[in-house]
This record gives sequence, C-alpha cells and structure tokens, in this order.
Amino acid sequence: MSDCLFCRMVAGEIPADVVHQTDRVIAFRDINPQAPTHVLVIPKEHHRNLGALATADAGLLSEVVLAARDVARQEGLVDDGGVEPGYRVVTNTGPQAGQSVDHLHLHVLGGRGLGWPPG
Ligand code: C5P
Repeated sequence: MSDCLFCRMVAGEIPADVVHQTDRVIAFRDINPQAPTHVLVIPKEHHRNLGALATADAGLLSEVVLAARDVARQEGLVDDGGVEPGYRVVTNTGPQAGQSVDHLHLHVLGGRGLGWPPG
C-alpha cells in the first residue's frame, strides 16, 4: 500500500513522532492534537478499519488495543497505583464518522476533560 500515508510512516518514508512500538504495532503523536495526549496506535500491516482487522487477525487487534493501554500508562493517564485520570480510545470508520486515513488507527486521547457525546 505505497499510497497509504500510514504505511509510508511505518516504512520510514514520512517522519513520525513515535512514542511506542512492538514488532507489529506502532504508536505516534497526532500531527494535529485534539488533547494534551493525542496518540495514534496502528497495526504496521495495512487494514482499512476496525472490522477489517477483527476479521483478518483478532490476535493483532488485541495487540493494538494493548498498545493503546500501554501508551495511556506511559502518558500517565492510567496509574497502576490506583489514581487514574482516564483516557478515551476512538476509531472512526467511514467518511460520515470522519475517517480521513484508510488504515486502522486508534486515537488515544487524554490529559483534559473530554465531552460526551462527541461531535
Ligand atoms: O480518524 P481520522 O482518519 O480522521 O484520523 C486521522 C488522523 O491522522 C487525524 O487526527 C490527523 O491529524 C492525523 N494525521 C497525522 N499525521 C499526518 C496526517 C494525518 O497525525 N501526516
């Protein structure tokens, strides 16, 4: 998927502010942050959205979710000692939901109060 922006980031062709990675997952800061912490967690392999990844590789989906948790811990949003400010994980699917990059990404947001419902 050489035309996919996030595949190009995984390949190192486009710079990314990487905060966490494993063999199959990478997390980097969103270029247009909507909260003090705004990190995108993606599978390195191309999958277009959440449902596509769940269908293709449930194990990898689990790795992506655990990486989101690890990022939240790293950012101080989850404190294993019991003080947990909390965080939000969001993924947009399709144009009406606002998906602008067709490579699954979990938005990890936190560091401020987050309104509900989202816009
Ligand atoms: O959910 P959506 O597909 O709109 O999210 C894509 C996200 O990718 C946006 O939050 C956008 O700021 C981010 N982005 C980025 N680096 C780029 C291009 C987009 O972090 N070079």
